[in-house]
Amino acid sequence: MDQWFICDAGHVHWGALGGAGLLLRYVPPDGGQPRFFLQQRATSVDEGGSWGIPGGAIRAGESPEAAARREMEEEVGTVPRYRKTSVYPQPCGGGWTFYIVFADVDEMFPGYSVHETDATGWFTRTELESLPLHPGIRTFFQETDVGGSAPR
Ligand SMILES: [Zn+2]
Repeated sequence: MDQWFICDAGHVHWGALGGAGLLLRYVPPDGGQPRFFLQQRATSVDEGGSWGIPGGAIRAGESPEAAARREMEEEVGTVPRYRKTSVYPQPCGGGWTFYIVFADVDEMFPGYSVHETDATGWFTRTELESLPLHPGIRTFFQETDVGGSAPR
């Protein structure tokens, strides 16, 4: 299942069963701006150099959340305790879907650059607007209201 897949719309996707990633948010108890954990994708992978979320292909028998957890462990070396809020499917229009598993954490844990990752960081919504975001994550922040200032 970890293979390139061409969907009905002619896109080339990684993983025949869809993909999934974890988007983690930290909301400061003092009322400050929420921060989001992002990963800069290694230059060797698809959309290399862009900032997105740890994630990858769903394997047979895996839920989107299970796949997202496995990929996060592989890529940034840690999966913190979190409270899942919701799962946002992003259908590509050709029968393939990427699932964003959205959750809150109680602290800004450190991420590591283990695999296919050049850097990690915590960003407010305002800060991430000026990053070279992965297209799927940019769409997510444009289409949802998950805290912080609205996108321009
Ligand atoms: Zn597609």
